[in-house]
Amino acid sequence: MSSYCKYCKQKISGRSDKKFCDTNCRVAFHNSRLNEKETVIQKVNKILRKNRSVLKFVSPQGKTTIGKSLLINQGFKFQYYTHHYTTKNGNTYTFCYDYGYLELEGQKVLIIFKQIR
Ligand SMILES: [Zn+2]
Repeated sequence: MSSYCKYCKQKISGRSDKKFCDTNCRVAFHNSRLNEKETVIQKVNKILRKNRSVLKFVSPQGKTTIGKSLLINQGFKFQYYTHHYTTKNGNTYTFCYDYGYLELEGQKVLIIFKQIR
């Protein structure tokens, strides 16, 4: 049984348990995997940063009630956030770094700023 290089897909001669034809292919394969991961992280970071800047833009004072549609119009993506924070009153805020929001009735959101120590 012969095997194929995981990177260049060429047939490997010699031992059948080899995964790469040579060191170059092995290194190239691992680098490309690393880059894929980095790309995903960078993409998500970019969205989170954008979300934060939208929250900051619509609420420069750090506490404002606005219509949810305003966030959507600015390109805010609700499925991306960094963490949740639940107050003593049981309100759960969704945060993008130091800016967070609480969903209110009537398609409104309360935006707050909370310094991260
Ligand atoms: Zn190869």
